[in-house]
This record gives sequence, structure tokens and C-alpha cells, in this order.
Amino acid sequence: MIRRGRCPTCGVTSARVHDRYQCHPIDLPWRACSVQVALTVRRFCCDIRDCQRRTFAERFGTAFLPGVRRTTDAGTLLLNLAEAAGGEAGARLARATGLPVSPGTRLRVTLLRLLRHSVLASAPTPRVIGVDYRTVQRWGAWYRRGGLPALWSHRLGGPGKAPWLTPEQQEAVAQDVATGRFRNAVAIGAWVNQTYGVSYTESGMDSLLKRLRCAPKVPRPLHTNANLADQEAWKKGAPRHPSRCRDTARSGCGLGG
Ligand SMILES: [Zn+2]
Repeated sequence: MIRRGRCPTCGVTSARVHDRYQCHPIDLPWRACSVQVALTVRRFCCDIRDCQRRTFAERFGTAFLPGVRRTTDAGTLLLNLAEAAGGEAGARLARATGLPVSPGTRLRVTLLRLLRHSVLASAPTPRVIGVDYRTVQRWGAWYRRGGLPALWSHRLGGPGKAPWLTPEQQEAVAQDVATGRFRNAVAIGAWVNQTYGVSYTESGMDSLLKRLRCAPKVPRPLHTNANLADQEAWKKGAPRHPSRCRDTARSGCGLGG
């Protein structure tokens, strides 16, 4: 028996046993009889102070994965049956060979879940697919509605709606906005409506400006009593970190004002 267990989080071994528990994973059937393994699992304490895991169960290699109700071989057999015959028939075959699976929906879910895990686990998960997640959601909705044919029937990246303003008009808007005479998108919208007879909503105008990469110039508010020279002088003399400012004030060398 291996005396020490290796923490899956920090990788340091430990011999301090926290407790033991029994588990009975289902193994490959023998002559159409179901077989269950009686396994005593030790739970070790992780002694590394910085490790986020306090206890961990001992591992038995790939034959018995933690938290799984079947051995890996039994899971593979079930999966092969599910892939070959589908959910319901696969479950009937599994029961006939002596591999117990619970009846009804639970069984179907078990097989489908196994099937899905195998499909997803066989390929690395893409991290960047280059489309918005809402697009992916839409693809999912089409697929659920009509399967692959429905998904193929949609033409992605079509021409879209025609813009309300011609490219020349859009260029004119961008140039006019760049002069800085508008204070907000509503004012630009009113001007566009007056000039070209096209009325944009506020958010529509916002997205148009975003597309044109221009924005109304909004001046920063300035207090009537503000003294710009004093502000500049204060900026140069002020410490960069407020916390250090407190420390220096305590030690007797304040802002010098
Ligand atoms: Zn650890």
C-alpha cells in the first residue's frame, strides 16, 4: 500500500490521514453478472500552509477516477454501447450484459452525458472563436430547432440592412462632428434630421458615431472661482500617494503650504 498521497493542488505529498471512506464503483460485468468494487479511500490532509486544499482523497490512477460511480473500463463500455446503439437501446444492451444503469430518464441522461463528455473531451476546447457569444447562442437556437440542416440553411455574414445615410453623408457628418460644435449625440441627431431628413434614436446615433469613430466634444466643467496657476502649483507640490502624504505629515515634513 502506498503510504503517502499527493495533493492535486500543490503537488506535495502527505502521510497524515484525515479519514477513510468506502465507495463501490461499478466494474466490468463478469458472465452477465454485475460487479462492484469495494474500495476504501483514504483522505489525506495537505500540510502546506498556502495550499487552498485542506484535504484530498487518494488517487488510484486512471482505473478509478475520483467521484465517478463507474470504473473507467465500465464507463468506456457504456459509452461504446451508447455510441453504437443510442441512448435507450444502449441502456438495454448494457443491462443485458450485466452493467447496471438506473431506469427511465436518469439512464438516458447518464448515457447522453457520457457521450457528450467523450465528444468534448476528445478535442481541445477553443479559447477564441472570433464571434460574439450571442452569435453562438443563435447558432445553438437554430440547431435545437432543426438540427444541422437548419444551421446550414442560414447564410451567415449577409449584406445586412442598408445604411440610412450614404457614405458621402456619413463622411459629412464625421467632418461636422470633428469641428466640435456639437455638445452631445442628441444635438447631432437633430442636425442630421434637419439636414438629411433621417431621424436616429439616441442609441442609434451613438452607434453611428462609434462606427464613424467620432464623438461630440464635451468641455470639462471649470469652477468660476478656479485659479489655474494655483492648481498647477499644487499639482507639482502634491505627493503621488495619499498614504505617503499622511506618513510625511506625521513625521513633520508636510506639504510645505
Ligand atoms: Zn496542497
